[in-house]
Amino acid sequence: MRIEVNEIDLIKLLKEISLKTKIKSYIVGGVVRDFLLGVKNLDIDVVVEGDGIEFAYILLSYLKGDIVVYEAFRTATLSYDGISIDVISARKEYYERPAALPTIEFSNIYDDMARRDFTINTLAYDVIEEKILDYFNGLEDLKKGLIRVLHPKSFIDDPTRIFRAIRYATRYSFEIEEKTHNLMKDSIENIRLLSADRIRNEIFLILKESKAKEMIDKLIYYGIDKVIFDGITLNTQHLDTVYVNLEIELYRFLVLFYYLKEKDINEIEKRLRINKIYLKALKDLVFLREQLNCQNKNIRKIRETIEETKEEVLKAIEVMEGEKAEKIIKGKLTVKGKDIENLGLPPGSLYGELMDNVFEAKINGIIATRDEEIAFLKKLIEKLKKGE
Ligand code: ATP
Repeated sequence: MRIEVNEIDLIKLLKEISLKTKIKSYIVGGVVRDFLLGVKNLDIDVVVEGDGIEFAYILLSYLKGDIVVYEAFRTATLSYDGISIDVISARKEYYERPAALPTIEFSNIYDDMARRDFTINTLAYDVIEEKILDYFNGLEDLKKGLIRVLHPKSFIDDPTRIFRAIRYATRYSFEIEEKTHNLMKDSIENIRLLSADRIRNEIFLILKESKAKEMIDKLIYYGIDKVIFDGITLNTQHLDTVYVNLEIELYRFLVLFYYLKEKDINEIEKRLRINKIYLKALKDLVFLREQLNCQNKNIRKIRETIEETKEEVLKAIEVMEGEKAEKIIKGKLTVKGKDIENLGLPPGSLYGELMDNVFEAKINGIIATRDEEIAFLKKLIEKLKKGE
């Protein structure tokens, strides 16, 4: 294994620091798994048998970069251009109640691996011995392509692992091992015990994945959508599309709830505790979708919504509705109040009406370019001045 950070061989450096400080360190989890699978992973987890923060500061003195420390768990994150290194104090976890956050106790590498979700995530690279420690047969499961929990209570302790199992199985085209699969099916109802924040986090992790559609299809297959969203229909069409300049989670979130009824917006807000930006985007989406399909359009509100809403909203509507949406979206005006003022009409209540007229002309294909918008405005203003 070789990982370079700031042109320094990280594994060699960890070994040097471990030998000097007598604090053992291990590269663990996703990065070992992905290295063996030949997949790139720039989120490096280092577990140390000792104080993670102290170790992280020593590492920082060699690697520079930025550091953020988390006192409670004695962990720290170093970051570089696109790479992050989490330094974790080895710990043991106890779950006092299903779906609660665990209580912790500082411990050794074995216990730190034993608190993990699946065998494929329990591989630890011992930098001193230069070998992989495999306490739970993770290597074999990785070869066979199996997602397997470490113990039967795993999903009860932490139902977010249900989402994680689906995520890993789909991402790597792995199978969920039979017993794990049955345990998982039996714990679906326990998802209700998770907080809205934790559920949102899992849904958004899925929405960021390149196989998001397949993952959401699996959530539906297991009936997880019913537990979380209770009767709200999810849309999985067009979920995998990526647009470079758009925020992928927001775009996909909007596509996922494309058919949401207005009365259910508050339910989504409550169940996922989405932030104000997401809530506003969802409201705009539902409004515009309904307007597209109604006879008596509220031109003023459509125009204003299109002007100020997020690009992701417009893209979701365009992708879902095709030509029908294009007609309205292309109405987005380039002219502003300032342009009307420049044409000699003092600011006043007529501005809104003029803009509505230009907008209607644009969606009806009468005008298209900025020059045409200005010319159209000019004509309208002349007519007004003549008192027509
Ligand atoms: P990804 O490629 O999705 O980032 P990852 O394996 O790096 O995968 P993280 O979510 O960054 O996943 O978590 C790091 C490690 O922490 C995982 O490999 C896993 O062993 C462990 N982990 C994360 N969440 C849980 C959980 N809910 N229960 C047990 N272990 C977990």
